[in-house]
Amino acid sequence: MTTATSAFTLSPEHTSEMHELYKHLHATPELSMQETRTAAFIREKLDELGLETFTCGGTGVVGILRNGDGPVVGYRADTDGLPIQEDTGLEYASTATGRLPDGSEVPVMHGCGHDTHITVGLTTARLLTENRDTWAGTAVFIFQPGEETGAGAKAMVEDGLWDKAPKPAIIYGQHVWPGLSGTVNVSKGTAMAMANSWKVTVHGKQSHGSQPEQSIDPIVMAAHMVVRIQTIVSREVHPMKSAVVTIGTFHAGLKENIIPASAEFTLNIRTFDPEVRDLVLSSLRRIINAEAAASGAPEPTIEEITSFPQCYNDPSSANDLLAVFGDELGHDAVFETPPVMGSEDFGLLAEAIGVPSVYWFFGGHSQEDLDSDTPPAGNHSPFFAPEIEPTLTTGVRAAVVAMLSKLGIAA
Ligand code: ZN
Ligand code: ZN
Repeated sequence: MTTATSAFTLSPEHTSEMHELYKHLHATPELSMQETRTAAFIREKLDELGLETFTCGGTGVVGILRNGDGPVVGYRADTDGLPIQEDTGLEYASTATGRLPDGSEVPVMHGCGHDTHITVGLTTARLLTENRDTWAGTAVFIFQPGEETGAGAKAMVEDGLWDKAPKPAIIYGQHVWPGLSGTVNVSKGTAMAMANSWKVTVHGKQSHGSQPEQSIDPIVMAAHMVVRIQTIVSREVHPMKSAVVTIGTFHAGLKENIIPASAEFTLNIRTFDPEVRDLVLSSLRRIINAEAAASGAPEPTIEEITSFPQCYNDPSSANDLLAVFGDELGHDAVFETPPVMGSEDFGLLAEAIGVPSVYWFFGGHSQEDLDSDTPPAGNHSPFFAPEIEPTLTTGVRAAVVAMLSKLGIAA
């Protein structure tokens, strides 16, 4: 089958090589900020195409495709896997393992589909290279590590990404999601939520369970924090705005008749509006400190675990893309979509140089699967298995036409 894009053609050879690439990447995932072999593999492929390459931010790779005078356009693909035991039963399923920062060995899976992103990014670089007589300008391909931990974009920017690579006029990126394969979804304005995670350690005073007067009970204190924190969204955030505050872990004590010295909980917040984020974070701090003061306890320790920036699509560029995608994929395959509560560190790459960016989603499942009684597993599931086609081809077509829409026409 030959899949035509309005600009280039994916030949059967391209397609079968793309599938091989995908299966190889799927079988060899690595954990966030440890994507050493993945980075070497990507760089080798980019070098073969003749791109200028360099590593950045540890395991990030950048490929620069210079093709005469014209606009600079960026495209980003994230590269990390997740600590998940793959259970898809696919013949190319991962059996890889890795080590978490605490040293524990865990199974690793491309459970978020970043293998599709690398494959699409490399294939797009190949098509732009092979068809360089049709366009002009510079394409910058950013293969970013550590998206899942929110560390990768930051690491690349701090390592001088934009001192080493030409600054794009716009940066694009996309994510596979449990939508219909062959379709894409684009948001105008906010695309994804900001996310902040904290670890809170509440310091009490240990005593025998029969002598509570000797203690400052950290469990009672932390329990009050957990309850009062629920009032931030219900009583402090404007009813027309949205926020999520989730306390995902709570640990304290080892035995029923010992009041422990401390309690620990972790929380995650999601917001769309920077003002709401600032309000929620400052309210959290106020409540946590005030509940500790109410118990006569020292100030709790608050540590940031992760922080994901805003993922904001420049509305006019997103509008342009809706038309570009419609012409390429068919207008019944392109949807404008409201923001999603997931988070991404993609936005940081463009924010660092004050240029617009657009991030969209491409579907990974057949209509039959989506209609079945057990709908397909979503991202981060051990069963997450997007179908290869038309998923990959759609991702490539979207990436190619997005980039061409801003690159120059060959003289
Ligand atoms: Zn993910
Ligand atoms: Zn992801």
